[in-house]
Amino acid sequence: MRAHTAAWIGAAGAIVSLVGLCFLPAAFGAHGDPAMLGAGGGILSFGLLLVSCAIYARARTLLAAPIDAPSSPAEKLRNCDVCERYAPVIQCRVHLLHLCGDCVAAHYDFHTCAYVPSTRGKQRPRKRATAAGS
Ligand SMILES: [Zn+2]
Ligand SMILES: [Zn+2]
Repeated sequence: MRAHTAAWIGAAGAIVSLVGLCFLPAAFGAHGDPAMLGAGGGILSFGLLLVSCAIYARARTLLAAPIDAPSSPAEKLRNCDVCERYAPVIQCRVHLLHLCGDCVAAHYDFHTCAYVPSTRGKQRPRKRATAAGS
């Protein structure tokens, strides 16, 4: 199931839930009809069921996506500015370079360079979490 399908199911569920909520004033007004409470509750429950199905479908879509390949060329650009092979671990503020662990030794000049931890290349864990949590 595609991600757009899940989003549309979620939107439809939200609309159905809103319709179910619109029944509540008729049930609790001055001349309220108790039958409207059951009908509104049923419609609201069906809408919330659709929303939960959309969340489940979206989660299944995310689990089915490939996790090892870089998803976009922009993600490849997040590597070291010198060798472009590894994720940067440190940034030279003077030369504006994001460097990996191998390249920082060749770049190091204590007279000019000032280092801070690199803000890019923070790789999200690529390992899929298991049900046991290990
Ligand atoms: Zn490098
Ligand atoms: Zn430098």
